[in-house]
Amino acid sequence: MGLKRLFSGGVHPDGRKALAPPSPVRAVEAPALVAVPLRQHIGPPCGPLVRAGDRVRRGQKLGDGEGLCVPVHAPVSGVVRGVETRPHPALGTCEAIVIENDFLDLALPPAEASAAPSDLARAVREAGVAGMGGAAFSTAVKITSSAGAAKTLIVNACECEPYVNADNALVCEHAELVLQGARRIAAAVGANELVAAVENDKPRAAAALRRAAALADARVAVLPARYPQGSEKQLIRAVTGREAGYGRLPRDVGCAVFNAATCAAVERAAHGEPLTERIVTVSGRGVRRPGNFRARIGTPVSALIDAAGGMAENTARVVAGGPMMGFALDSLDAPVTKGLNAVLCLTADECSDAEGDVCIRCGKCAAACPMRLLPLEFWRGERFADAKALAHFHVCDCIECGCCAYVCPAKLPLVRSIRAAKRIVKECDLP
Ligand code: SF4
Ligand code: SF4
Repeated sequence: MGLKRLFSGGVHPDGRKALAPPSPVRAVEAPALVAVPLRQHIGPPCGPLVRAGDRVRRGQKLGDGEGLCVPVHAPVSGVVRGVETRPHPALGTCEAIVIENDFLDLALPPAEASAAPSDLARAVREAGVAGMGGAAFSTAVKITSSAGAAKTLIVNACECEPYVNADNALVCEHAELVLQGARRIAAAVGANELVAAVENDKPRAAAALRRAAALADARVAVLPARYPQGSEKQLIRAVTGREAGYGRLPRDVGCAVFNAATCAAVERAAHGEPLTERIVTVSGRGVRRPGNFRARIGTPVSALIDAAGGMAENTARVVAGGPMMGFALDSLDAPVTKGLNAVLCLTADECSDAEGDVCIRCGKCAAACPMRLLPLEFWRGERFADAKALAHFHVCDCIECGCCAYVCPAKLPLVRSIRAAKRIVKECDLP
């Protein structure tokens, strides 16, 4: 399939994918204590459905709520110790259900499954599937809101952040599962075109997708590796040539984009299996045996690092997610969540603490911005708390990809400033 159009801007950071090759995926033993956060999605947190002393089985629902809330399930069998405030990889802290593992791995039987496309969103919601590429939006809501509007369904296997190789590992081993899930979503939303998109620095994943594509009536688009190729709007443009501009959603241009791991989780959900584990890349020069690990949700990051041979003394920073969009971790007790694709132990030469505070108005950030925004105006607007200017320059359309900060010669902490700028706009409630 030919490329429609490259997106504008973007950067070419060193991919460093070879540090954690896609296979073999190693299993991390379930720990003695798991902490399952009640919020692993965008939206209101779950309310607990269990209390201290309750016996639970693997797959049992632990928490649920309304609207955009996505339920959470027990990743092990055991006894509930309580609902506790625990570290969270993206939120700092969060209420979590803590379970003492009995190591029996007693599982609930899979929920009754229906193959009807109209039942898919309900099954996906009951299985607790949220976007696994990082956004963690309710997959059931995405399916429902795309129905009737999305004619092209794109499987996102680009995984463009440096170091991160979890989806690559999944696709190399389970491309059929990914495309079966995608085919199921396509039927549910009424899409008549299914495209699997992968970057050209993942030849094994591309080959696996090509083999599986024939069975799923899909096409494979191999795109040039370029950050942030895996971002929804940039991917839609590269695959279809369509432009979802400011304030527009993928469905407004007839598309829906689902991450590869999410598609696999949807296929499992359609067979009544809740989301209780995922693949996580553990990488960086600060870890001794980098790789990709299958871990239960709720497993502490420290257990993943141990499984990867432990952390070197010269580790300067541990990051949850990729180096461009991830969060520096305060605590290695933070658990694996549905959206956690990587844990990076970075040495001083892999990450810089240098931080300037004067913009020299060189314009490099604007040239690198894939959303065609003016990050230098966000920096200025945030410093003066100028909500009107921030809204005028569309700060809320920023996808927080970090390209501007990556190229900024003044080393301004632009993404942090942009996140603060978005809060200023939201709090002002402008017309
Ligand atoms: S790249 Fe940095 S220094 Fe240059 S204009 Fe943008 S914010 Fe200012
Ligand atoms: S973080 Fe936002 S402003 Fe900066 S390059 Fe990405 S989209 Fe543009």
